[in-house]
Amino acid sequence: MSKETHRSVSIAAPSLDDREIERVSSVLESGRLAAGETVQAFEESFAAYCETDHAVATTNGTAALHTALEAAGVGPGDTVVTTPFSFVASANAIRLAGAEPVFADIDHETYSLDPHAVEATIRERDGDVDALLVVHLYGLPAAMAHLREIATRYDLEVIEDACQAHGARFDGKPVGALGTVGCFSFYPTKNMTTAEGGMVVTDDEEIAERARRFIDHGRTGSYEHANLGHNYRMTNVAAAIGEIQLGKLPEFNETRRANARRLTERLEGLPVELPVEPPGRRHVYNQFTIRTQRRDELREYLSEQGIDSAIYYPEPIHRQPAYDHVSTNAPVAERTAREVLSLPVHPGLSEADVDAVGRAVRSAFEVTGDG
Ligand SMILES: *Cc1c(COP(=O)(O)O)cnc(C)c1O
Repeated sequence: MSKETHRSVSIAAPSLDDREIERVSSVLESGRLAAGETVQAFEESFAAYCETDHAVATTNGTAALHTALEAAGVGPGDTVVTTPFSFVASANAIRLAGAEPVFADIDHETYSLDPHAVEATIRERDGDVDALLVVHLYGLPAAMAHLREIATRYDLEVIEDACQAHGARFDGKPVGALGTVGCFSFYPTKNMTTAEGGMVVTDDEEIAERARRFIDHGRTGSYEHANLGHNYRMTNVAAAIGEIQLGKLPEFNETRRANARRLTERLEGLPVELPVEPPGRRHVYNQFTIRTQRRDELREYLSEQGIDSAIYYPEPIHRQPAYDHVSTNAPVAERTAREVLSLPVHPGLSEADVDAVGRAVRSAFEVTGDG
């Protein structure tokens, strides 16, 4: 088949079938659209999947992060160390909770917080830090053993942003269950979707209770409100999609991993850095991200070949105008933002699609005489 006749390969596509449609239809027919027993059932299944005692469903991942921080007692006057190399929501949630983010640099190979940089950042502030917000970027768990050890030493709450890592594991334990409280997003580009949606998971009953109140205007009785809160409640319609998607998640992740293995084989030997999976960490490849100094050229070439790619993220968060006031030293994050390119890896791809991606990347380097 010539390149011209191969259909274009997309960077992300939600995988839905009749089962989601049937479950959503039955919720619509029931007339009980807002939060109710479908949400509760989804929460219970999700908590079981994450091996946590509690789960609280929210409107989206950003709301989940905001809720988790509030529920963990992070607020005005508090400082939270986090990564500058993530979707802006990770840091925005800290500010929405009234606290201040401080950025520590990332590790070149795994793209998540470098524990040595975290410790240096905490020391610079004489230990005056209250929490650590860890992001498991692209679906790969961060260096949790070392990060947790630092958190214990400095008495920090650990909030996990697992919005890209549903089903990833560290030393056999699911992400989301590795810190004080964990957060997920169900946006359509994630490993599973509810259209828009999010989840807070924790083993701490008090945090779960506070989260449940925070997403419902601080409600403690029918018209009794103990504290300030939001309307961050998930709908039964979204939860209906979520229940079916959660059942499919193990298979989705296996397919992502198989696609990643296949793509890795196709790209071996090229002058690009490929994704790593350090011992003890199970990657679920929300993104398959490579790095090369010729990123922009490669992206343009792939686009001509009908291969979608994406840059997550073209600017670190501290370089965004909204973060002008946060002074940061993160040279690794800055270089990474110039070099990363994410290639299609989602479970909707056929083996032929994965091969087409591999072939296109390979020919990009051959065309430029560098393969
Ligand atoms: C998607 C995402 C979020 C936010 O989730 P939304 O559901 O879009 O609000 C937060 N953090 C990371 C790392 C994400 O990828």
